[in-house]
Amino acid sequence: VVEPFEAEVTRIFNLACPASPVAYQNDPVKTTMTCVLGARNMLDLATRRGARIFQASTSEVYGDPDVHPQTEDYRGNVSSIGPRACYDEGKRCAESLFFDYHRRHGTDIRVARIFNTYGPYMRPDDGRVISNFIVQALLGSELTIHGDGMQTRSPCYVDDMIDAFLLLMDAEGPNQTGPYNLGNTREYSVREIADQVRSIVGHAVRLTFHPANHDDPRKRRPDISKATRDLGWAPKVAFDTGLRATIEYFSERLRREVNGWLPGSVSAA
Ligand code: UDP
Repeated sequence: VVEPFEAEVTRIFNLACPASPVAYQNDPVKTTMTCVLGARNMLDLATRRGARIFQASTSEVYGDPDVHPQTEDYRGNVSSIGPRACYDEGKRCAESLFFDYHRRHGTDIRVARIFNTYGPYMRPDDGRVISNFIVQALLGSELTIHGDGMQTRSPCYVDDMIDAFLLLMDAEGPNQTGPYNLGNTREYSVREIADQVRSIVGHAVRLTFHPANHDDPRKRRPDISKATRDLGWAPKVAFDTGLRATIEYFSERLRREVNGWLPGSVSAA
């Protein structure tokens, strides 16, 4: 998406960008360019074609929030110079491009702020907390906690998130541009996530504590009342159910990729 291209389209879902902190910090300049140039190129394409365009924005636009839970009108607490800025500011700039195209050119936009999402088909080396803990637990290694583990996230199962994308894309009406917070409202500390993963995988693995990541948000939970009101949407999949499905996926995948050997089996998955 950093290069302009032509395509016959009626709808564009722009999800292009690494979303894992490890991945987006790996090549930070490219991350910013993917967010910003990608948004411009996709907005130009949508505007030329009269297509509706969905933007995958992020809870990272709120940074390390002083308002909890986060509502869409909260303007955020983001560092413009830290290691997360390439993603946070890239996505914030993309949002401003979306709303400028909408105001200037009437481009038909839908902007979603996606909170932590997990599920099958993540990469084992994705680097985010749930896939990391699952892969570590299945391989019998220590679970790596960054900081004290008391920081919180509100994990949303992928099927719920995709339902919301489609509802938002299909929503008609002049005021459905968003931004809409999309995510789960059940909040867990990183330690609680580790404990849930350990109890489902069902064999003893230790926790190890590592330095906290720079600018790591201490807490995160969406207020989704706007999405519920306008789209009739709320997540349905309980964390335990989603975790079991995700653990089952990784368990199968690792069994294939690690020569059929796993030190533990998934209990009741
Ligand atoms: N985290 C952790 N161990 C890991 C990976 C992540 O303790 O192996 C923590 C991370 O420091 C953060 C939280 O889990 O506080 C969520 O991190 P993730 O990378 O999943 O996404 P983020 O919400 O930060 O974008």
